[in-house]
Amino acid sequence: MTARLLDGNAIASAIRDEVRPRIAAFTARAGRAPGLGIVLVGDDPASHVYVRNKTRSGMEVGLHVDLHQLPAATSLDEVLALVRRLNRSETHDGILVQSPLPPALGDEAERVVFDTIDPAKDVDGFSPGNVGRLVQKRETLAACTPAGIMEMLDRSGIPVAGARAVVIGRSDIVGKPMALMLMHRDATVTVCHSKTKDLAGVAASADILVAAIGRACFVTRDFVKPGAAVVDVGMNRIDDRARVEAIFPEGSKRRQQFEKNGSVLVGDVHPEVAEIAGALTPVPGGVGPLTIAMLMKNTLTAAERRAGGAG
Ligand code: NAP
Repeated sequence: MTARLLDGNAIASAIRDEVRPRIAAFTARAGRAPGLGIVLVGDDPASHVYVRNKTRSGMEVGLHVDLHQLPAATSLDEVLALVRRLNRSETHDGILVQSPLPPALGDEAERVVFDTIDPAKDVDGFSPGNVGRLVQKRETLAACTPAGIMEMLDRSGIPVAGARAVVIGRSDIVGKPMALMLMHRDATVTVCHSKTKDLAGVAASADILVAAIGRACFVTRDFVKPGAAVVDVGMNRIDDRARVEAIFPEGSKRRQQFEKNGSVLVGDVHPEVAEIAGALTPVPGGVGPLTIAMLMKNTLTAAERRAGGAG
């Protein structure tokens, strides 16, 4: 079997096509575009790439994107003051503080910052109020990555109700909300983590397997039930030649990319899984574009709700 590749770029493009006219209608009604304030602190190169993509995508669909770049030496108080200012702003409907914050801000910094964002503007869905509403299956701004995965499953015709779903990873931003969303859609969900016994055996019981681990090519064919839908959330850059050569055959496109760039981006799922899965998300071009599309959708939703539920 060769897995059907689930094209995240195409699905993200469809979602953007749906939000664009709604954004235009909001803009016509309100006399201003929905506003997204992005806060980027420090020099993390991956964060700069993510923020650039979010900014570009937001402007392309018609949002007003307002990027606040702060130096790594910024204090937590200064970050909080900016967040409070964006909370008070009439023209900012969504606020996103790019994670991770610089380690110098302290272990609790992200939690304190996310606690400070007005839940009505929390387009990442990380604030405790919005997480609580998700737990209770109430209307909320939900975390973009798992929300995007649900869109992908639905739009790809993968049945969720009654399915056995296994989520590997229990982070606040992916694993936990993913498990909740699958459960709310009537999947029977198991959450695995670094202490799970017989991880491959548990994973191989899944009709829907979501890997959100952060370990390159960790999920091999023995983790996968033949025909399962496998969602690869991982984004891992590898620059070790021996590893790249062990994963990708000579002459393959990925090997050529490695020779050109000195590294390749891979997921948590080994490419050999394509031989056994029924459906598989590629990396890149799978979950990543959906995360950004859902951020656009959440910003529009936040704007519409703040304006009184229009739309
Ligand atoms: P995280 O906070 O580091 O959580 C990783 C989870 O994986 C933890 O729950 C951890 O278990 C589990 N884990 C680690 N090693 C394991 C092992 N050997 N066996 C079983 N479980 C193991 O990571 P995250 O923020 O959820 O992100 C996960 C990956 O997704 C990363 O590669 C990240 O870059 C990527 N990501 C992609 C997108 C996107 O838009 N495509 C968005 C967000 C994240 P414990 O809890 O026991 O430590």
